[in-house]
Amino acid sequence: MERGAPKHAIDQVIQKIQERGFKAHPSIGVERAVIGVIGEKTRDFIPYFQQLPWVENVIPVLKPYKLASREAHPETSQIKVGSALVGGNALAIAAGPCAVEDREQLLSTAKFVKECGAVMLRGGAYKPRTEAYAFQGLGRRGLEMLAEARQQTGLAVVTEVVDTRAVKEVAKYADMLQIGARSMQNFALLREAGASGHPVLLKRGLASTVDEWLSAAEYILAEGNPNVVLCERGIRTFETATRFTLDLSSVPLVRHNSHLPILVDPSHAAGNWRLVRALSLAAVAAGADGLLVETHPDPSRALVDGAQSLDFDNFKKLMTAVRKVAKAVGRTLQ
Ligand code: PEP
Ligand code: MN
Repeated sequence: MERGAPKHAIDQVIQKIQERGFKAHPSIGVERAVIGVIGEKTRDFIPYFQQLPWVENVIPVLKPYKLASREAHPETSQIKVGSALVGGNALAIAAGPCAVEDREQLLSTAKFVKECGAVMLRGGAYKPRTEAYAFQGLGRRGLEMLAEARQQTGLAVVTEVVDTRAVKEVAKYADMLQIGARSMQNFALLREAGASGHPVLLKRGLASTVDEWLSAAEYILAEGNPNVVLCERGIRTFETATRFTLDLSSVPLVRHNSHLPILVDPSHAAGNWRLVRALSLAAVAAGADGLLVETHPDPSRALVDGAQSLDFDNFKKLMTAVRKVAKAVGRTLQ
């Protein structure tokens, strides 16, 4: 309540709280009165309470998400993705090209990253491109190549879905549906992916807060699909020296507030392959449950995101270094 709020105003607020079926917990000080509102769905009434006379501010204490919160599920969730497990003690590394370009490119990458210890293959068949006339991916043919790569290597396949109408099709081929940064608040897509029951990799929106990201996860969980993995991939800041700014503070924060496992994508954050190893190691040290790393047989010829893709040699070096840091923080690699 505002400073000096008269008793009748305080009593009126208490009465309005009770009339709506909530419990009021007033604490009346010499200068200020603070009134707690206890009950289900109190959030819906924030604007109502805010406009009552002498009310200074209404501050929600609870988070806007429930199913995603660690209170709802004290242990970190372990999500089975094909042959891989995300959220266990062993880190899950996903690697592969930004886009599926051709069979040879995909199969050679899949075999190589598997040999180095990756458990998931990434690769876009439907690409969300900023520019309308840029390469949009191979579509169905790309999905078929991903399925073939899984068959040959046993890797779990994660690939992006950008359209609600394609959720069923992508789920038929992939072990995990990726919802990209640009789609994080496409609520129809979140619901559809949730309803599919398929594991979902939810990337953080490029200008989204952690609470908005977890609220987006809540849409998927609310459809009865518990198989959600988060992925930090950098946010937009004033800094232009990197493609995005990798917000590593989100990793311990998400682990504190949520039970959902979290991967880190250093590739899209940096936009530059030279930074990928350092950011990956920092992510593992910060508590990430795994990484999503763009890897290409010849980044100079990549159709998409070559500048940030590791070649095979650098991917191998990355995995050697990741093993050491994982060990130092009490984790292993699958
Ligand atoms: C991707 O991982 O292929 C991708 C497009 O990333 P983001 O949605 O994070 O930009
Ligand atoms: Mn990419």
